[in-house]
Amino acid sequence: MIPSTTLNDGTTIPQLGFGTYLVPPEETAATVGTALEVGYRHIDTAQGYHNEAEVGEAIANSGLARDDVYITSKLNNPNHARDDVMRSFDETLEKLRVDKLDLFLIHWPLPTRYDGDFVSTWKAMVELVNDGRLASAGVSNFQPDHLERIVGETGFAPVVNQIEAHPYFRNDAARKASHEHAIAVEAWGPLGQGAVLEDDVIGTIAAGIERAPSQVILRWHLQRGDIIFPKSMRRERMEENFQIFDFELTQEQMEQIDALDRGPEGRVGPDPDTFDRV
Ligand code: NAD
Repeated sequence: MIPSTTLNDGTTIPQLGFGTYLVPPEETAATVGTALEVGYRHIDTAQGYHNEAEVGEAIANSGLARDDVYITSKLNNPNHARDDVMRSFDETLEKLRVDKLDLFLIHWPLPTRYDGDFVSTWKAMVELVNDGRLASAGVSNFQPDHLERIVGETGFAPVVNQIEAHPYFRNDAARKASHEHAIAVEAWGPLGQGAVLEDDVIGTIAAGIERAPSQVILRWHLQRGDIIFPKSMRRERMEENFQIFDFELTQEQMEQIDALDRGPEGRVGPDPDTFDRV
């Protein structure tokens, strides 16, 4: 059974889901279909992944009830103006073949674009919730000062902040700021996009408890309380990443993994303060 995390608006999200970044559109329906067969019930996509329609196709073909699958998408960088939020959200609903989306995130804050105004974008996200077409609104890649601004200027806190986090980059500053606003943390790139899998400390812990390195890393995330959605296109890896609820890491093992943190040097993705691709 996958545990649920309760968000600050009272809704719940499965703590383990399935990521779809870099899953090519032509392989997405089959890949997400396999993930749903394995048991995943939370799918993370984005307008910018160009595979929302195929995610929608897989869910429609799965035979699962709409309420049984939690779906997240994200606002693409060129769509931050209010009218583009509205228009592109309609397209997202249509592609995903749903009347209402569970969670929609501002993908990147883009503080050097749009005159630094991500607050208006956030207000448009809140409007979608008030309209009843979006259950929950969140953000992604928001730094502590970005969170401070949107909460301070609108009084509405996002339900989640989806940020890069893994043993090489714990991202404690953004995690702490999120928690201070009762915002749940979603850790993207939970395996460091593969970089952490070969680590010797992880390998030693994994060998000692007869688990795969991926399982040790994902279990570390779960015990930190974060929401994760590792990505793999292979069924056996999807299954491996799903089998993480029948063992526990000791305090000492958690601390050994904590100690792998390299700070911002450990990032595998861009720095949200300067990332500006639209
Ligand atoms: P990840 O950390 O999930 O790593 C994926 C890589 O690990 C792939 O190369 C895969 O083949 C490999 N892998 C997965 N399971 C494995 C296993 N059991 N054994 C060996 N190798 C394995 O990286 P990710 O896909 O970038 O992150 C997960 C999800 O987070 C994405 O798919 C996407 O949905 C989301 N994401 C969001 C953002 C954002 O800006 N919000 C950025 C990147 C990713």
